[in-house]
Amino acid sequence: MKELVCITCPNSCRMQAELENGQWKVTGNKCKRGQQFAESEMTCPKRTFSTTVKTAWDSVPVIPVRVSREIPKDKIFQIMEEINHMTVRKPMGRGDVLIPDVLGLHADVIVTSSVLKEYLEENNKENTCMHKDCGQEGGTSQESTCMRRNRGQEGETSQESTCMRRNRAQEGENYE
Ligand code: SF4
Repeated sequence: MKELVCITCPNSCRMQAELENGQWKVTGNKCKRGQQFAESEMTCPKRTFSTTVKTAWDSVPVIPVRVSREIPKDKIFQIMEEINHMTVRKPMGRGDVLIPDVLGLHADVIVTSSVLKEYLEENNKENTCMHKDCGQEGGTSQESTCMRRNRGQEGETSQESTCMRRNRAQEGENYE
């Protein structure tokens, strides 16, 4: 017999699940959802989860993301690993997809806040040049001048303050 707590609603029913003749017999649940949860938990436990992903902007260093649907619990760390190696380098807001069909699980990793997008819009940085080379990309407004230079003016010295355009090539990322 396996003891488990249903996390489907705040009642947090304490349940017992036992396999009898190939069927999971569940007790302690106050509703049918507890039975479903227990069966899922005993065969292929699933979870949703939220975390944050880095951005290329010091003023908004991270933005929140979550998986769009439940995924197998044992895949969470693998997905976290993937997210931890990413840096958002373009305006992204609530509902935008960061990783489509992550690990082939038919779930996307999506952004859950527009804080970065709003920051970039408020500061006219949508077409952020990131470096003087960005003039080659057509960035001509003052806002699109090199962030590295801007940062230098602000006295920053971190590695992140190097040219983002160059970083993209180095990291082989395609989030533009
Ligand atoms: S069994 Fe039903 S009532 Fe109890 S925690 Fe699960 S969903 Fe809520």
